Amino acid sequence: MLHIGCHLSCSNGYLAMGRQALTLGADTFQFFTRNPRGGSVKPFDAADAEALVSLMQEHHFAPIVAHAPYTLNACAADEGLRDFAKRTMREDLERLEYIPGVMLNFHPGSHVKQGAETGVRLIAQMLDEVITDDIHTPVLLETMAGKGSEVGRSFEELRAIMDSCRVGDRLGVCLDTCHVYDAGYDVVGRLEDVLGEFDRVIGFERLHAIHVNDSKNPMGSHKDRHEKIGEGSIGLEAMTRIITHPRLRHLPFELETPNELDGYAREIRLLRAAYDEALKGEEA
Ligand code: FE
Ligand code: FE
Ligand code: ZN
Repeated sequence: MLHIGCHLSCSNGYLAMGRQALTLGADTFQFFTRNPRGGSVKPFDAADAEALVSLMQEHHFAPIVAHAPYTLNACAADEGLRDFAKRTMREDLERLEYIPGVMLNFHPGSHVKQGAETGVRLIAQMLDEVITDDIHTPVLLETMAGKGSEVGRSFEELRAIMDSCRVGDRLGVCLDTCHVYDAGYDVVGRLEDVLGEFDRVIGFERLHAIHVNDSKNPMGSHKDRHEKIGEGSIGLEAMTRIITHPRLRHLPFELETPNELDGYAREIRLLRAAYDEALKGEEA
């Protein structure tokens, strides 16, 4: 069975997201740990988190993904901004301890003219400070489109972060289909080659989640504009090859397409149907 869900708003709490996912036909979902612009967060409600955990067990959810606010920049030039990123991530990780089955995904950061090498070093430094032994939530680096000075535009840059911190072997990766295509990896024409490269540079065992997005722009554009499934430059055929690939199909797939809830429900149905059709007879 395909494990698929979409990005949901956390404004009504944890259990509400779990229930909403079920009504959409999802068995996983993603949410921002707080307002995507960063900043303050609602007081933590442990009972609500526990209610979600029960619901997830009862309905056999796949792992879910918490997304750090994308305005956090672990490798900002300004020390105050770096410190803010660190405190926010630490607080999020402490809260997520209440939800087994969640992973924390984050955008590595933007080096803002300091150079990718400095960016990698600062990101690694922050991870070593926030991922202490009492933290059990897997932390995922997201593959980035390479917009501006984003770090993580290549598999090598993600590898460099892992190699630069003590907690490197505890880090995983979330692959975003729109981002990697935008970064210049041809997941449409050369999926096998791209996955082979991922395995050589990072290793498949590190891949824990997929963001499933079509792209408004052609390969290598470095623009990071998501499109609805089947309506962009990746297309439904290539997306079906991705979700059914033997090395990927067990992973949780999260939609971050420009949709309201009804659009998400439609895309979940569309991809479930495409998956079942492509694997007809193969899976017992
Ligand atoms: Fe993201
Ligand atoms: Fe993404
Ligand atoms: Zn994006």
